[in-house]
Amino acid sequence: MEDQNLNQYQPLESIEDVEEFYSAIRRENLTHKLSPERPYCYWTIETYDKSNGIRGGGGLGVLAADMRRVAEQLSVPFVLVTPFYPWESHQKMENLQQTDYHEERNYKDYGFNYVDKVSIRTATAGVELDVIEKRLGTSRFLCITEPNFGELYSGESGSDHRLYQEVALGFGGYKALKRIGCKPAIIQLNEVATFFAAIARLDELASSGMDLYEALVYTRKHTLYTNHTLVQAAEANFRYDQFEQYVFPNIKSSAVRRWLSNQFNNGEIRLSTPTIEIAELRSGVSKLHARVANYHDINGNKIKFKSVTNGVHLRTWVLPEIMDYYHEHNILTRFDLPVEREYEENIDKITAEEIRNLKRICRVKLNETLKHRTDQYGNVIQIPEDAFLFDFKRRFVDYKRPWLPFTDTDRIAKILEENNAHYILSGRVHSGDDVMFGKLMDLLKKIDENPILKERVHYLPDYDEELGLALSLGANSSINTPIVGLEACGTSWEKDIANLGLLISTHDGGVADCSSDNYLHVEGKTEEDEVKSLYEQMELAIKAWNNDFDLEYWVHTQLKAYLDICSGTRMMRDYLNYLF
Ligand SMILES: *Cc1c(COP(=O)(O)O)cnc(C)c1O
Repeated sequence: MEDQNLNQYQPLESIEDVEEFYSAIRRENLTHKLSPERPYCYWTIETYDKSNGIRGGGGLGVLAADMRRVAEQLSVPFVLVTPFYPWESHQKMENLQQTDYHEERNYKDYGFNYVDKVSIRTATAGVELDVIEKRLGTSRFLCITEPNFGELYSGESGSDHRLYQEVALGFGGYKALKRIGCKPAIIQLNEVATFFAAIARLDELASSGMDLYEALVYTRKHTLYTNHTLVQAAEANFRYDQFEQYVFPNIKSSAVRRWLSNQFNNGEIRLSTPTIEIAELRSGVSKLHARVANYHDINGNKIKFKSVTNGVHLRTWVLPEIMDYYHEHNILTRFDLPVEREYEENIDKITAEEIRNLKRICRVKLNETLKHRTDQYGNVIQIPEDAFLFDFKRRFVDYKRPWLPFTDTDRIAKILEENNAHYILSGRVHSGDDVMFGKLMDLLKKIDENPILKERVHYLPDYDEELGLALSLGANSSINTPIVGLEACGTSWEKDIANLGLLISTHDGGVADCSSDNYLHVEGKTEEDEVKSLYEQMELAIKAWNNDFDLEYWVHTQLKAYLDICSGTRMMRDYLNYLF
């Protein structure tokens, strides 16, 4: 694929630039705390950065990739520790059914350098892992890999293979960090699958002279656990015998082994339990999520999470011409933060004509991408310049309700036909999710049976970053309808708002950071009411687009409320402020 918009940015060039950024976020002392030898270390089982050869599954991976991109842009010393998966899964359609296929990936094709081997142990054998790295400005990918590492999320979540992958990432990744001469200033654990990185650090301290208590205090102070889940009980368990097989052989200190054994309950462990004990810093990914995430420590006390709402790397996800507009009109600073005291006033000056002109360029970009993708029938589609376009693009999981707009097929057909509107649907069903597999098939049949929908609703399989970007650019209005209370943050909607699209959404995740007056709000006591509200908002979006005053009103309102939240620099600032 051609990444026209991905990675097309210049990092800040000099040390003065970094210092200016630190001073812009009022953290002048950071140059002493973060350095190439003592970097910000971010551990993640998932990264979504196709141009660097690593495909993710969803928002968790996009977040990790965007954190690194922001660090590179702002010259923050940063190491992303993540697996390089030798295999990745893709999907295609056959007779309106999703089928999976697999492609092999070689890190040498993506500019990675081989560093060395590190080894981890199981109870019966040693495993050699390749350490590879790729530097991009002050940031780098530090990956571990081996030919049998498998795919992202292969196997069940409590399976031996998952545990092996997590152990390899934690213990192997920590050894890799030592091998390149880095000591972490901070370890951020992107979800509990990275827990073993903190254990590796604890074990290093405890096996080199510190007593366990001291080592725990030190590790706790320098470890941030970022939670994306709502319910602790939903997490998979591992058994003690699995730990004997895969985990304990990698721990030198008997005190650490004992400490970890004590975290088991009836022979089972959920990784969030010891993660909470080993990380004093804890964050959730939106205001609402940080408030409602229901987690308890080992004594049953409810855990507090600091909210750091996910942002996106704007220069990756926003049309360059729109970014130029934000910069030239004093809406964003050169660090991509809103210009203090001025940005709201300047947003109010964006005219409907400017919005339409920028969106016209966006539509051309979308159609360029669509030329090498196919719909559910295997056909290439193009969206006419003068057609209105809705999109729904996200993982096909039940709580996101991709089927919601098709509850009343006659109603949606009428909306689309009367307004020359099209609807693009994109998202992957997680392999093994039989329920959603069936729901997607039913949805596509429903569309197939209705001649208007068949002409105007396009399902694009194999959803990925390229489609995510293209749709954020090319759609006039995007639809985001998670069941309220179940979305941790979501970031697709941020890409849509920053690209001047109109957001139709339920009040959930990061959208709920601001009041529901700031976008086209879908609400209702019952799902039936929500569906009604959704259709009304779809009609409103079309009307707004045909009326300069309304178009300006909604674009201004959304941007004033959310541009700050969308900014990946704002997210980095919030993390740096919390951590140091
Ligand atoms: C932005 C993006 C996401 C994030 O999706 P949400 O449903 O908003 O969390 C997931 N996958 C891809 C490919 C993306 O580009």
